[in-house]
Amino acid sequence: MDANKILKRLLDGNLEYMDAKRNHLGDISKEIREKTHHHGQNPIACCICCSDSRVIPEKIFMVGIGDLFVIRVAGNVLDNYGIASLEYAICHLNIKLVMVLGHTKCGAIGATIHNEGGKYINYLVEDIKKSIGNEEDMTKASILNVKGVVNKINDLNIKPNNEIKVVGAIYHTLSGKVDIIS
Ligand SMILES: [Zn+2]
Repeated sequence: MDANKILKRLLDGNLEYMDAKRNHLGDISKEIREKTHHHGQNPIACCICCSDSRVIPEKIFMVGIGDLFVIRVAGNVLDNYGIASLEYAICHLNIKLVMVLGHTKCGAIGATIHNEGGKYINYLVEDIKKSIGNEEDMTKASILNVKGVVNKINDLNIKPNNEIKVVGAIYHTLSGKVDIIS
């Protein structure tokens, strides 16, 4: 498909979405769109996950509009903008759960293990390297990376109280299962 066909595919999907009713993938109805538009969002959790197109947090957890505050960046790491987003979720949206969701077969983890950087990818690789060290197993490295991000969040001092739980998790791209790892 060329870029114009791809854009049409996305816009066709958007038309379907606008008429969608609540379904098994969470509430994406016109009603919830109206409710959240007029009354604002009240997400139940913040999910920090990878940009990988196989990892779709709203679908993985079967939630709909207004349910998840998602911070997505390759390798599910947190830069200052990500931290700012997290601070907003914690301090202004009053979320009680933060999940760092890594996944198997992560390209950012692979790039780090194999030292395959790039002009800007190097920023990611350097950050992930701090968490995974010399681990060469992809899944074990993903887990270490998630643990590193969880530790970073716990060290940030943006949690106003202990009611906020921070968990690390791994999404298995083959089975679709999410395992809590910390
Ligand atoms: Zn990834």
